[in-house]
Amino acid sequence: MNAEIIAVGSELLTSERLDTNSLYLTGRLNALGVEVVYKCVVGDDRARLSDAVRLAAGRSEIVVLTGGLGPTEDDITRDAVAAALGRGMSFRQEIADHIQARFARMGRQMAEINRRQALVLDGAEALANPNGTAPGQWIESDGRAVMLLPGPPVELEPMFERECLPRLERMVPPLVLRTRFYRVAGMAESDLDQLISPVYKPYANPVTTILAAPGDIQIHLRARCPTLAEAEALLAELGAGIEALLGDRIYSRTGEPLERVVGDLLRQRRETLAVAESCTGGLLGERLTSVAGSSDYFSGGFLVYTDAMKTALLGVGVQLLAEHSAVSPQAAEAMAMGARERTGATWALSVTGIAGPAGGAEDKPVGTVFTALAGPDGVCSLRSRFLGNRARVRALAAQTALDLLRKKLNAAPG
Ligand code: AMP
Ligand code: MG
Repeated sequence: MNAEIIAVGSELLTSERLDTNSLYLTGRLNALGVEVVYKCVVGDDRARLSDAVRLAAGRSEIVVLTGGLGPTEDDITRDAVAAALGRGMSFRQEIADHIQARFARMGRQMAEINRRQALVLDGAEALANPNGTAPGQWIESDGRAVMLLPGPPVELEPMFERECLPRLERMVPPLVLRTRFYRVAGMAESDLDQLISPVYKPYANPVTTILAAPGDIQIHLRARCPTLAEAEALLAELGAGIEALLGDRIYSRTGEPLERVVGDLLRQRRETLAVAESCTGGLLGERLTSVAGSSDYFSGGFLVYTDAMKTALLGVGVQLLAEHSAVSPQAAEAMAMGARERTGATWALSVTGIAGPAGGAEDKPVGTVFTALAGPDGVCSLRSRFLGNRARVRALAAQTALDLLRKKLNAAPG
């Protein structure tokens, strides 16, 4: 079964507010084996919302609306759904009494406009709202459901748990949804897709989604099957095909970020890491220390932006810098060796490059980055050329350095 979510509220179309209810709802629906195939945000406009509801109800078995159930003129969800579904509404005295009692408990008088919240669509069940005034509404016919839920998350979530989940469980055939997450470093999105699309294209189930960030691609496989075993089997089958093509470019099979994968490898080996950073300005250290428990393996780092600091803190030779410049394999290697010696860490990574937009030269254009790794068996370096703005070059540089270490650790079992 497929679901669709409509978030109602003009504030959700501004830069100030984000629709978060749909994220919560998607998690709950997925857990039931229901896939969310569309979601949209509609402002407080009766005609536009009616159009959206008509479209949604015509193509999805489950339609969830959130927001717009308040008492004021701009709360148009009840009206818009009634119009879209061609249903009338009737006033329910018991709901008005309930709202009135709630106001009385707060020592207030119910305003006349709150009576609007006691209007229920023909054929709908009212859903209790212990945390607010507006009841929700559930309209079910021919194995399809439309539900109207309040906007405030503190009202929506308990209502969904108590009122909607039991009804959905009755309606939805038992399907399980299982997901597998791969993460890949060191590949462009288009290259990756060209390589693996022949393998995943023939499968409608699992559904494959590719999400790309600089130097970091996530591949999500989602299988929906009547049983867990069938879902796992489908994921294993498609997963094996993808793994065979990508090999050790896959750094995670569970969705963990690269800094955590590298950290876990170091911890298992009881080894330590130091960093020496120039153009990344601390990005590497930031990523490594963002992982709780990183003090088990991360020794620390040097932020050496000028030539003088590279010499003073890491002992990079004045002569070497004059001869090869700070953006060179020689400088990167000297930085890594200096950091390793001075910290006593098992490994040291260094990054030096031209993040831009200025500072490029013919032989070393903007985006040229050298990463080096010093370890028990010596030092090596890698030259890369990254395209994009300063933020992208720096992000790619940090990612490339971490991946250099990951590959080394995988190639030399500890
Ligand atoms: P409403 O039910 O439309 O009166 O919404 C009341 C309040 O609930 C809004 O001001 C928001 O703070 C919050 N809200 C409404 N819709 C959402 C949503 N989709 N995600 C998160 N918060 C929401
Ligand atoms: Mg609203």
